[in-house]
Amino acid sequence: MSRSAHPAGPRHADVLPEGHYTAPAADLNVLDAKVWSRTVDRAADGTVSVGGIEVARLAEEFGTPAYFLDEDDFRARCRAWRDAFGSEADVFYAGKAFLSRAVVKWLREEGLNLDVCSAGELTTALAAGMPAERIAYHGNNKSAEEIERAVEAGVGRIVLDSFQEIARVAHTAERLGKRQRVQIRVTVGVEAHTHEFIATAHEDQKFGIALAGGQAAEAVRRALNLDGLELIGIHSHIGSQIFDMAGFEVSARRVVQLLAEVRDEHGVELPEIDLGGGLGIAYTSDDDPREPHEIAKALGEIVTRECESAGLATPRISVEPGRAIVGPTAFTLYRVGTVKPLEGLRTYVSVDGGMSDNIRTALYDAEYTVALVSRRSDAEPMLVRVVGKHCESGDIVVKDAFLPADLAPGDLIAVPATGAYCRSMASNYNHALRPPVVAVKDGEARVIVRRETEEDLLRLDVG
Ligand SMILES: *Cc1c(COP(=O)(O)O)cnc(C)c1O
Repeated sequence: MSRSAHPAGPRHADVLPEGHYTAPAADLNVLDAKVWSRTVDRAADGTVSVGGIEVARLAEEFGTPAYFLDEDDFRARCRAWRDAFGSEADVFYAGKAFLSRAVVKWLREEGLNLDVCSAGELTTALAAGMPAERIAYHGNNKSAEEIERAVEAGVGRIVLDSFQEIARVAHTAERLGKRQRVQIRVTVGVEAHTHEFIATAHEDQKFGIALAGGQAAEAVRRALNLDGLELIGIHSHIGSQIFDMAGFEVSARRVVQLLAEVRDEHGVELPEIDLGGGLGIAYTSDDDPREPHEIAKALGEIVTRECESAGLATPRISVEPGRAIVGPTAFTLYRVGTVKPLEGLRTYVSVDGGMSDNIRTALYDAEYTVALVSRRSDAEPMLVRVVGKHCESGDIVVKDAFLPADLAPGDLIAVPATGAYCRSMASNYNHALRPPVVAVKDGEARVIVRRETEEDLLRLDVG
């Protein structure tokens, strides 16, 4: 099966064997801290809260479906990444995972930088006051207008993705009388997946310039010779939802080899390398992600070792976590509409959202878990498939999970770890109204992206 739509790579990591599901937890009322955001809590009376507010109250006030984002958790994760990498490295949050003005403000306050990959993301970042020099601009086909806006705004770096783009950015910068800081994105011949990495067929993808065949070396040669460009380093992003550091190890080694070649050929030591994002999170209790300090330590050691053996000074490292920061900080709250047992198979639970608010299950066979959050239940576990309300049999939110057998229409269920690539990939399929994102903190809930309305739909449809 080909999976070709994710910006992180030609295929996607979280694909599990057909028919895979984990056994029911001993007690379905227990919310595993690994997959729920920091302030989510089930009280003794069975009610669940986030940021000190009961979810039933949140449903009343904001409706369902809705995403609830735990601001304390988001900020704590930003700080954990920043502190782990310290002043020797830069952390760029990958805005495509989820971007809004409130999020940009939190990033700014917590000392993170920001990756954008479209004019829309750049506009959002600048509108929320992110200093341009803390923004990196990505993408494999930036338009002339996007390049001009990025250069004019003074973004800290543009990550060059093709030979055409090297010329375009240089030309634009020269025309505007500027010298643009750039990195060159290379494909190192490694594509990392959840629990392993693949070292074949990885170059057959749209991103970056191949190290193989001297392509990347040629790109460096060109960039160094253009007045409009200041080449500050090499960029590599190997995949997403990665748990194993082995892929980063190979990637770092190959990038450092290129730095050594550049030094030998041009007498220049490029000062930076960016190892991309892609660090995995726990979608279910089976996943064991690494902590930022472990990742920082591992990457630092790998780069230092490779540079020592190549006789290079250690470059400044940057990383670009998206999912690992925002993914675990939100859950999607749904109301159960129908419960349909299929004898001998499973029970289909239909909710008031679906593939329009979470496309990842349909797109990548992504794994999620789900819990009953409006009450506690001691009923037996039943195997369920949580599906949406769209006209599509592939409209699945949670493929296999267990919910209590007394589940009934009107109950509230929540799917955790939906902070990344859910709202940002949401669609209007079936003219669904995209759900709001509500930030919750210290007993207060605040809409940061409002729910779409039918007026919004009709405003775009100009008749
Ligand atoms: C998507 C992407 C990221 C972020 O990936 P996550 O899996 O969300 O960490 C970082 N860098 C680049 C270049 C990307 O395309």
